[in-house]
Amino acid sequence: MKTLYFDEPEKIRATQTDAPDAPGPGQAQVKTHRVGVCGTDLGGYMGKFPFFKYPRIPGHELGVEVVAVGEGVTNVKVGDKCSVEPYMNCGECYPCKKGNTNCCTKLEVIGVMCDGGLRERFNIRADKLHVGNNLSYEQLALVETLAIGCHAIDRGGVEQGDDVLIIGAGPIGLSALEFARVKGARIAVMDLSQDRLNFCKQTYGIECGIVPEQDGSDMSQALEFTHGNGFALVVDATGHQGSMSSAMKYCAPTGGLVYIGITKQDLVFPHVAIHKPEVTILPSRNALPKDFPYIIDLIEKGTIDTGPWITRRMAFDDVPEQFVELITPAPGTIKTVIEMD
Ligand SMILES: [Zn+2]
Ligand SMILES: [Zn+2]
Repeated sequence: MKTLYFDEPEKIRATQTDAPDAPGPGQAQVKTHRVGVCGTDLGGYMGKFPFFKYPRIPGHELGVEVVAVGEGVTNVKVGDKCSVEPYMNCGECYPCKKGNTNCCTKLEVIGVMCDGGLRERFNIRADKLHVGNNLSYEQLALVETLAIGCHAIDRGGVEQGDDVLIIGAGPIGLSALEFARVKGARIAVMDLSQDRLNFCKQTYGIECGIVPEQDGSDMSQALEFTHGNGFALVVDATGHQGSMSSAMKYCAPTGGLVYIGITKQDLVFPHVAIHKPEVTILPSRNALPKDFPYIIDLIEKGTIDTGPWITRRMAFDDVPEQFVELITPAPGTIKTVIEMD
């Protein structure tokens, strides 16, 4: 069966592998239909992602079909269309026991720390499959990306009418934006790229697009939008040390700052910048199982429109040659989806 490997940084290989054995107890065998590509995959390809081991079958944003179930599986049946929750947790550690499975101390994300879904079929724990029979496989492949933003907005405790600033209008920032909208927040977006701000205006009606500037005009815009208060919640989706170290300046007193993006560098800021206004800093990692059925329902109801999200489709057979083009995306590119069939 068709399988794609990252053999080492910048080495992609499409090959044939043996079909998997029958699924074991608690497992399902799935056929992969659609695979979303994200920054983690690009980082893995370039050798820049610290947890990536080689050789590796990438692919963690998946729209799959159940083709067989093992003993004891009751949550899915053959023929079900599913989104995959790619976070393999242990169920035994302190965060797992508290229900914070996203922070499992032994967490393995498929496609990153163990093999993922860029192959025709594979076996997976059935409890990690979330059924969405009314969605397309493409939509199901987007659920995981959306879950990242969903969890971030939950971490921030956004309520109706809250002023929310999203910093970084790439795919992760946009996923947070979707859920800030669902919560009924008043949203502003900050990005270095005017093209991205225009996209947010055209697609989501976000009137307040802010370009960070040295001259302080960004702060004036932020204060004007929030009637002088600052934002109830700032979501930093840049993964940029400089932005993350100073993002609290846009927070209202007693506001929150969520970090979704990750940097390997230290964040340095004066303590008073968070102490005086009692700003709460909330890192947000992965997502929770409950986010998946919630998002599937929102897409089904049309509350979230996945239409603007997919800007490129790539056939599996073209991936070895074309994947490198995704490193420098064309303007306006949000999400590329690989089509297995
Ligand atoms: Zn991803
Ligand atoms: Zn655990």
